[in-house]
Amino acid sequence: EQAEIGLIGLGVMGSNLALNIAEKGNKIAVFNRTPEATRKFYAEAGELAGQIIPCETLEEFVAAIRPPRPIIIMIKAGDPVDQQMKLLEPYLSSGDIMIDAGNANFRDTIRRFDTLKDSPLTFIGMGVSGGEEGARHGPSIMVGGTEDSWKRVEKVLTSISAKFNGEPCVAWLGNDGAGHFVKTIHNGIEYADMQMIAEIYGILRDGLKLSAPEISKVFGRWNEGRLNSYLIEITEKVLAANDPISGKPMVDVILDAAGQKGTGKWSVIEAQNLGVAATGIEAAVAGRVLSSQKEERVAAEKIFGLPQTVAMPGTDGLSFLDDLENALLAAKIAAYAQGFAVMAAASKEYGWNLPMPTIAKIWRAGCIIRSQFLDEITSAFTKDPDVANLIVTPAFAQLVQETDGALRRVVSTAVMSGLPVPALASALSYFDTYRRGRGTANLIQAQRDFFGAHGFDRVDGVDKHHGPWGSGLNA
Ligand code: NDP
Repeated sequence: EQAEIGLIGLGVMGSNLALNIAEKGNKIAVFNRTPEATRKFYAEAGELAGQIIPCETLEEFVAAIRPPRPIIIMIKAGDPVDQQMKLLEPYLSSGDIMIDAGNANFRDTIRRFDTLKDSPLTFIGMGVSGGEEGARHGPSIMVGGTEDSWKRVEKVLTSISAKFNGEPCVAWLGNDGAGHFVKTIHNGIEYADMQMIAEIYGILRDGLKLSAPEISKVFGRWNEGRLNSYLIEITEKVLAANDPISGKPMVDVILDAAGQKGTGKWSVIEAQNLGVAATGIEAAVAGRVLSSQKEERVAAEKIFGLPQTVAMPGTDGLSFLDDLENALLAAKIAAYAQGFAVMAAASKEYGWNLPMPTIAKIWRAGCIIRSQFLDEITSAFTKDPDVANLIVTPAFAQLVQETDGALRRVVSTAVMSGLPVPALASALSYFDTYRRGRGTANLIQAQRDFFGAHGFDRVDGVDKHHGPWGSGLNA
């Protein structure tokens, strides 16, 4: 019996995805560049082995799949994908679909899609989120490609995806690069979420002087409330774990230098290209960059010392902890609003027609940013799919009004204590800028006109476009 689907790349993600596919009753052929990995994978597949056809050559692999063949490529993103596609193509036949499931840059996805557009082969760019665990038991899946090609993979992808109250967390989001673009912004939001959590952790650790196990309990309590989410849940667990070597809290012996693989940076670059302010994601990416400059920071601390922390309000009671909880929620709203605004702009620019309520829906389970909060975003966008900014939907406007005071108190306390809160502060400034009808760019326009004769619009509509700072003024 031939396989219904094939998968190339038995690394962390690919092997778990393959087991998930097999477990859901789909026969699958697998291939890995290094055949040892294929043998090991098959040997460890246990009772799922009957659903798996291990292949050591591409020829054998393609022959094992029933045409037209959907083939998932889950390997290192970038050049390896082009190389793998080139090696695979000679064996394929009309109607076969190559599905890149790695973290591709959507520009590469558009290029790969366009290259195959006039050929008998088809290309799908598919974002997968949820890490190892998600891949194994149900990831969130963001699909880009033609609607026809989606229809041919819909059944199997639906079977392996995460479910939120029974609803599958997979959707076709639009043509060519739509899926990978949405996955990129998902990761950008994930960066912002993680940075904001880390900033709150910093206030709890360095401001309130709480220990890791104490902070774990705080996050544990928050996970019962409106912040309920996977990232808060794992933060609680991470902070509770002890290092088997030193016996100290694990987080206390981990070097404070964050890695990154590029999707956060891409989110910022694309936001800038589209002219959308994504200040939370920018702050998060910059935060990781500065974190990695460990030696410079240690040297600078020797010069400047650390600022005195001010007395934290309400350290004796729960009120400041409540403020921290609400501040995180308020800041999260800004970051998500920005992420969705970037996607709305991209949707127009690339003609994708991205369905915002659907995107929020398929992020409710399976992916790293999964949360109750995304269910609220789903409702807000379902009621008002074309709203300019999530912040002004009735439900979120109310939530912001309930929480922005807390964010203001937390940010000012942190600033007075010299505790860095770039993402939280950016969220507050974003909101304060967005909600203020009369800003300060009138001055910038005047300056631009002064030195560059760029002209300006007037508030009274009078048709006069330059200021009185010509040669006469200087004379
Ligand atoms: P791993 O490092 O575990 O595995 C990498 C895989 O890529 C291996 O199978 C490797 O084969 C293969 N590979 C590397 N270079 C080539 C090449 N030139 N030609 C063919 N195959 C090649 O990676 P992951 O499973 O973690 O990641 C795979 C993809 O999934 C990446 O795009 C990643 O960004 C994305 N992703 C990862 C997530 C995660 O949590 N890890 C989450 C979501 C997406 P070999 O054994 O021969 O070296």
